[in-house]
Amino acid sequence: MRPSIIHQSAAGHRVPPNFADYEAERARFTWAAARAELAETPGGGLNIAHNAVTRHARGPGRDRVAFRFLAGADARTVTYGELDADTNRFANVLAGLGVGRGDAVFVLAGRIPELYLAVLGSLKNGSPVSPLFAAFGPEPIATRLNLGSGRVLVTTASLYRTKVAKIRDRVPTLRHVLVVPDDPDDPEPTPPGTVDLTALLAAASDDFATVPTAPDDLALLHFTSGTTGTPKGAMHVHEAAVTHWATGRYALDLHPDDVFWCTADPGWVTGTSYGIIAPLLHGVTSVVDAADFDAGRWYRILAEQRVTVWYTAPTAIRMLMKAGPDLARAWPRPDLRLIASVGEPLNPEAVWWGRDVLGLSIHDNWWQTETGGIMIANTPAFDIKPGSMGRPLPGVEATIVRRTDDGVEPLGDGVEGELALRAGWPSMFRGYLNNPERYARCFAGDWYLTGDLAERDADGYYWFVGRADDVIKSAGHLIGPFEVESVLMEHPAVAEAAVIGKPDAMVGEIVKAFVSLKRDVVADETLRLDILAHARRRLGAAVAPKELGFLDSLPRTRSGKIMRRLLKARELGLPEGDTSTMEGGAS
Ligand code: ATP
Ligand code: MG
Repeated sequence: MRPSIIHQSAAGHRVPPNFADYEAERARFTWAAARAELAETPGGGLNIAHNAVTRHARGPGRDRVAFRFLAGADARTVTYGELDADTNRFANVLAGLGVGRGDAVFVLAGRIPELYLAVLGSLKNGSPVSPLFAAFGPEPIATRLNLGSGRVLVTTASLYRTKVAKIRDRVPTLRHVLVVPDDPDDPEPTPPGTVDLTALLAAASDDFATVPTAPDDLALLHFTSGTTGTPKGAMHVHEAAVTHWATGRYALDLHPDDVFWCTADPGWVTGTSYGIIAPLLHGVTSVVDAADFDAGRWYRILAEQRVTVWYTAPTAIRMLMKAGPDLARAWPRPDLRLIASVGEPLNPEAVWWGRDVLGLSIHDNWWQTETGGIMIANTPAFDIKPGSMGRPLPGVEATIVRRTDDGVEPLGDGVEGELALRAGWPSMFRGYLNNPERYARCFAGDWYLTGDLAERDADGYYWFVGRADDVIKSAGHLIGPFEVESVLMEHPAVAEAAVIGKPDAMVGEIVKAFVSLKRDVVADETLRLDILAHARRRLGAAVAPKELGFLDSLPRTRSGKIMRRLLKARELGLPEGDTSTMEGGAS
């Protein structure tokens, strides 16, 4: 058995961490003090882009590289000074079109430089912005544009032709479509009804006075991943930058000389909060790779770009594990000092794999689209307990509760319940688009209820049990899928695992597991029985899966989350529900 704790001593860190004394920093921390680290926009108020870009461009950070865009023909680096000028141009383009404060801008593009300009330039203009996954099909695009009353869409010529043109008349609020040519060296005429963004940018002034947005002005619209049902549109405000700054400091340990790589697409909240905003607030250099996951390519990027802090997701880590250790060892990474992961529970096996194969523990952290930023994390300030999400960050008050008829009741250590956060942190969502009732249902008194089940141990670490929707009720037991999946992952043949509850007349539900196997492993009856026996030994007969199916891969969302509801619907022959965010399913 592996030990249950990985010690992290402050002395063992190559760079002194920002966050070394958990208790002292939590006691000292206030959101007001964090807010004071950010600058007021000239004219007053708080603006994310002013803090992310202009502040550096007007100071000693002007010539630092903000982004290294790695993709193919259009590889380039952009300094803070250049980013300031280019985002001013974009803001001037919007202003020139009569698009003002409060008018929503949507972006549908791969991870090209214009996506980043559009997000930051819109924020400067006081226009809320919503990046969408480029792989979405026409329907999810139309639904989101309508939910967010999109007035402007920034996209590429080919995405416009293949997707947007079909639904354009169904989005009555949409006035302007700004198009980036697919090949900058060979621009074709822009499609009818659209405007050439490149030409507009070239003609626009690079001088712009950022709109003095109020801290609670709407800044970002982000749709949830759709793991449990139809995606919800979460509304975020400029003040969220305070959380982005604080969490960049405490959870990601960003230092000015860092080369940071957040692998998430901005179509998912992680790719905006941490792929754009947090690293810029800290003035660091971010790597942006437009290509999809590829194990060899990713190791090469980590090595060649000399990435120091890497923020990724369990699904990517599982794929790297699947690709085997040799590839990992072929690319030395002497500069890498912190790896963090978010999006799904990180199985203890993956944390150990990080130690053994990458030479670093992976720091799991927890948050949601609704929280806007990292809330609970493993940080350099304390030891890691593999399988735990870590502890609440400074400024975050978490608890475990049970819902009651007239509110919530806090539960003690070691008791499973719903994870709740004390409302009022700066990046808390301020509503669900078009769904105030659902928003209201997320709160009980002072607490925001997350919909996730967890448990706190006596040391204040939080342990994920499962989403409330995924918990399995079997013969009077409540079984959290994560515990079962983590045990399945211990089996040497298993690459990925997901479990569901399957209705059963005797016990309510039985646990059914689905696994995909590591490379070169053959699925057969002997292996099936061996995996089931392993689970029974580790979990006991009451909790272990009774059935196990092999799949080549598990269905997942574009943000990489396993869709248990889909496995369940398929198993039971029920309708699949909203699959707009499913990987490979929507284009
Ligand atoms: P939807 O709300 O549409 O079903 P979603 O909840 O997957 O989708 P996101 O906001 O992208 O949408 O994901 C947040 C959820 O992801 C969390 O509520 C939690 O269930 C899961 N999650 C994120 N990080 C972790 C983590 N470190 N450990 C366990 N679960 C996590
Ligand atoms: Mg959710």
